[in-house]
Amino acid sequence: MTKSGSEGSSLHSLCTCALFILGDFMINDNLINKLVEAAESAYSNNEIPVAAAVIDKSGNIISLCSNSRQSNYSVLDHAEITAIVSAEKSLGDWRLNGYSLVSTLEPCDMCSAIIKESRIDNVLFLLPRDTPYLYGDNLINKQLVSGYEYEKKKLKKLLTLFFEERR
Ligand SMILES: [Zn+2]
Repeated sequence: MTKSGSEGSSLHSLCTCALFILGDFMINDNLINKLVEAAESAYSNNEIPVAAAVIDKSGNIISLCSNSRQSNYSVLDHAEITAIVSAEKSLGDWRLNGYSLVSTLEPCDMCSAIIKESRIDNVLFLLPRDTPYLYGDNLINKQLVSGYEYEKKKLKKLLTLFFEERR
């Protein structure tokens, strides 16, 4: 696994800044920015500000969703699960072997179980969970994304604001 630095958010002409590789999977500034935007828009819609994307091995985004439990009146609608279901529908297959999931927050117990069932290979997340797992922490293959400190601070602040204001 290798990674190049991602200080600041300016795009250089060669666009090799902030390339994060986990096995064969690649994420980049564009994906991280879209996830942050989706989390911000969830926050504006009174949803928990979390977003997730399913990507292929080249880093192409297959689906990108944010939490929508309140809007859809559905306990299932965490960002990770809606991203998975959306990717499955657009790919015409419920098996997501060969794909990866990137989430702004480390997946919860429910999402971890669905991720495992969907056969997604790897999970990358930007912020660690601060609540313990009920059913153990080793259900899925997951890894904290390093770098992106500015974006992580932004996401953390959104979550803190959300729970301060609404709980
Ligand atoms: Zn979840």
